[in-house]
Amino acid sequence: KSKSAYTSIINPDWDFNKMGIGGLDEEFSAIFRRAFASRVFPPELVEQIGMKHVKGILLYGPPGTGKTLMAREPKIINGPQILDKYVGESEANVRRLFAEAEEEEKRCGPHSGLHIIIFDEIDAICKTRGSVVRMTNRKDMIDEALLRPGRLEVQMEIGLPDEFGRSQIIAIHTATMRENNKLATDVNIEELAVLTKNFSGAEIEGLVRAATSTAMNRLIKASSKVEVDPDAIEKLNVTRSDFLHALE
Ligand code: ATP
Repeated sequence: KSKSAYTSIINPDWDFNKMGIGGLDEEFSAIFRRAFASRVFPPELVEQIGMKHVKGILLYGPPGTGKTLMAREPKIINGPQILDKYVGESEANVRRLFAEAEEEEKRCGPHSGLHIIIFDEIDAICKTRGSVVRMTNRKDMIDEALLRPGRLEVQMEIGLPDEFGRSQIIAIHTATMRENNKLATDVNIEELAVLTKNFSGAEIEGLVRAATSTAMNRLIKASSKVEVDPDAIEKLNVTRSDFLHALE
């Protein structure tokens, strides 16, 4: 593979906000620096220094904070598609999944890219070992043996977002309505970030949805007919008071 193939694995221009992930830039860079640095060097060099690639990463932390998003968004991962085929099936199929990934690696050459298999909610299936990214809410539920170097050696807590992170997440989840002028000018993202202390990313997404429903219901109530008048739909605007109502 050409040099560019290696450098493209870690792209310094990645904008995680554009990928729809807010408030996790530092976590992202830390994982990539630690877990994928060896992948950007030519294999000859990696062999010369006797470096072994990191085999497993564990993301843990409260629900709805972006663990799954983080593992899926950079399009370097081909594991989930394979895994999706086998969800809910037997252990033999999980073994087949690893075999397929190994076959793929043999076919493309060992340094052709990353073959990452993602196991979401690993606490439910923690007996398997291999080259994986794993996600869980309960790190303490995981077999100690899985956490040693050579297995899930890079571990990263993905916690609740801070105020800045929350403002990024609110901006992400209101981006479409902002682009289409459906977010009222009285909505202040910084104010909402303050009001959503201790919210997870998933809860912020839920808040935006609830505020949007409130705005829609306002139009339905205002409409005298069964169907909402198309002119009224044009006027749909999600306002600060819709957010405050949704927060309540
Ligand atoms: P669980 O531990 O419950 O599986 P998780 O941490 O894997 O949770 P995700 O599936 O990544 O949670 O997040 C659920 C949804 O919440 C995402 O699809 C996204 O819409 C929203 N979300 C969560 N965190 C973020 C974030 N940091 N930035 C933007 N959206 C987020």
